[in-house]
Amino acid sequence: MTDEPKRALVIGAHPDDNEFGAGGTIAKLADQGWDITFIIATNGNKGSHDPAMSSFRLSEIREQEQRAAAEVLGVRRVIFLRNNDGELEPSPALRAEFALYIRHFKPHAIYTHDPWKHYMLHPDHRAVGFAVIEAVVSARDHLFMPGLGQIGIGVWRPEALYLWGAEQPDYAEDVSDYVDRKIAALREHHTQLDEVQGWEERVRQRMAEAGKEHGFAAAEMFKKLPV
Ligand SMILES: [Zn+2]
Repeated sequence: MTDEPKRALVIGAHPDDNEFGAGGTIAKLADQGWDITFIIATNGNKGSHDPAMSSFRLSEIREQEQRAAAEVLGVRRVIFLRNNDGELEPSPALRAEFALYIRHFKPHAIYTHDPWKHYMLHPDHRAVGFAVIEAVVSARDHLFMPGLGQIGIGVWRPEALYLWGAEQPDYAEDVSDYVDRKIAALREHHTQLDEVQGWEERVRQRMAEAGKEHGFAAAEMFKKLPV
């Protein structure tokens, strides 16, 4: 028996969402030897208030920032789907694409946005959350996408799906030793955070507050769905 590493798939709408949502958890899993893959659904090409910035240039810079952030966390690979920022829909096509990655990478754990969060402004966060949840079902059951089974891409059932940004979280990950790594990864997203006052304090405070209830110095909270 080989000691095969556990695998995680982390799917975010924009470059930086994975770090905000689960950066501490990802760094922790990476240190435990997990094989971690990021999927970034959009190119983030509308995330700027700089009048001199073009969408084209921004999308290139944000891929570099995302690669640097992933490296800080110990992520093995980053897949860029390069959809336009703000234009995602939880379409059957997006669902099928996510399902294919799930069947291919065979993750034990999947992390993504909680699409049921009330009053969440950004449409891409909802779209990705719903498409991933639906994709888990398509990846798990053989009568979905039967042609993939015929070419050897069989079903895969992750152990659990973890949703960040949940209003009713029921799972706290102790990331007391990983706050600094999360901050360092976030700091790589220069286009998003260099001009934002106090973001680091807010992130640290939120993690400390989440941890307090559970006896940890810092935590990241998720809604955990068994699959
Ligand atoms: Zn986002």
